[in-house]
Amino acid sequence: MASVPPTSGDSAGGSSRTGCVYLVGAGPGDPGLLTLRGLECLQRADLVLYDGLVNPLLLEHTQATAERTRRRGDDGHKVLDQDEINRRLVAEARAGRTVVRLKGGDPLVFGRGAEEARVLAEAGVPFEIVPGITAATAAAAYAGIPMTHRDKASAVALVTGHEDPSKENPAVDYDALAGFAGTLVFYMGLDQIGEIVSRLLSAGRDPASPAAVISQGTLPGQQTVTASLAELPGAVEAAGLVAPSLIVVGECVTEREAISWFEQRPLLGLSVGVTRPVTQAAGVVGRLVQLGAEPVLMPTIEIRPPASSSEVDSVLDQLDGFDWIVFTSVNGVAGLLGRLWDIGADLRRLSNCRLAAIGPATAEALAGYRLRADLVPESYRAEALGEALGSRVEGARVLWARASRGRDVLPEMLEKAGANLQQLVVYRNEDVEGWPAGTIERLATGRLDWIGLSSPSIARGVARLAGLADVTLDSTRLASISPVTSQAAREAGLEVSVEAENYTWDGLLAAIVAAEG
Ligand code: SAH
Repeated sequence: MASVPPTSGDSAGGSSRTGCVYLVGAGPGDPGLLTLRGLECLQRADLVLYDGLVNPLLLEHTQATAERTRRRGDDGHKVLDQDEINRRLVAEARAGRTVVRLKGGDPLVFGRGAEEARVLAEAGVPFEIVPGITAATAAAAYAGIPMTHRDKASAVALVTGHEDPSKENPAVDYDALAGFAGTLVFYMGLDQIGEIVSRLLSAGRDPASPAAVISQGTLPGQQTVTASLAELPGAVEAAGLVAPSLIVVGECVTEREAISWFEQRPLLGLSVGVTRPVTQAAGVVGRLVQLGAEPVLMPTIEIRPPASSSEVDSVLDQLDGFDWIVFTSVNGVAGLLGRLWDIGADLRRLSNCRLAAIGPATAEALAGYRLRADLVPESYRAEALGEALGSRVEGARVLWARASRGRDVLPEMLEKAGANLQQLVVYRNEDVEGWPAGTIERLATGRLDWIGLSSPSIARGVARLAGLADVTLDSTRLASISPVTSQAAREAGLEVSVEAENYTWDGLLAAIVAAEG
């Protein structure tokens, strides 16, 4: 049944077609650990019902309406109980929708996915089950604990630590687990760790057995505590570990000493505010995750097309009249060349022009259009670009694809060098009206470690938005991308802690790593 395309359904009207429900495993937390099939399902969904363990960053992959079905804690959000979820899945599919039921880890590992699948099967609703990486394999891998090992463990048991102790016939057989020659992994057991350990010990498990608790596995807050089984509850309490956590018992835990890797990342556990426009944050977000940090989106400007395209269009019609086109941002490249395509023309119009890019990111954006920059200055600043161009543009017709706002240094230098300069606004950079509520809340409670300031206008924007939100940046350190940016930050009343040597986001992140090292 699973992959059969939806057929005509028995919905109320009788004419619409039954949709399909995908029970998708979201993986353990790191958004990179979603399967390709899961991604496809999210991309085609009309509705996503996701549970409390799912990383909300995954919802960036879908255009669908997304609703959270359960919440830990009581913050006034509606909580659907399991029967309601089951009824909803059937009703939405019968109404012709493609529904993704997104669950943390694997949908069938302590996830009630089987119950939902059974309801769908009984209702005749087509469904597919997309497995996910379950917390045990993922958290163990990120903690450097192999669940099986040629010399240390030949079997694995995934056990619920949540069993109601008052149950008459307990399903978890602690006598069997105590004698189990392999790795034990308890899900949902943090609250009852004392009870679990004492039951294992009284059933005869060696108190010296290596053991660990992995908290928030695969997430930037991952923390692992290791101890002997007997000492584990105390060690976990002392470290203040929080849910979601797994308890792991077995010889394999000792491998961690040699192969722990994720927790060695230089920015693990730190949060870093990304001030770029949201549409351009993906690259920086990815690099932060690689460094172990948690990215926090806090844009100061948004990029929009010019209010009217008529000026751009008329310049595009005369592109062959320019000797040089100068690009000082990725947005400038996209603004000019994107529009060139949209009006029905193509890159052949550039065949007479030489191209200058202010830095590697801009040059890369050109390369994305299969264009090679003829000139990239050694230092990625307007002054350096103006200087590098200075000797070559006397009498030349130069087009600068620029933002609606920016510094005047480049046009001054080019005109002084004798260029015949035309400035063309190809995109607007507009101030955002406020930061997301989650970001403000973090700042208000001092839970943001760093903010990256990647241009003078962004530095001013951070000062403005902090003022609007009525928060101070006292417990947050600021990293600046360049001296010009640092100066703008200071003028706006901000204190810069570190400055990049290389004026790129990579340089900025390297400065943070050095400061943390
Ligand atoms: N279906 C999920 C498990 C749901 S039960 C899966 O396959 O992973 C919820 C339990 O999973 C939590 O109590 C915790 O024990 C474990 N868990 C989920 N995500 C985790 C994470 N990122 N780190 C550690 N444990 C996690």
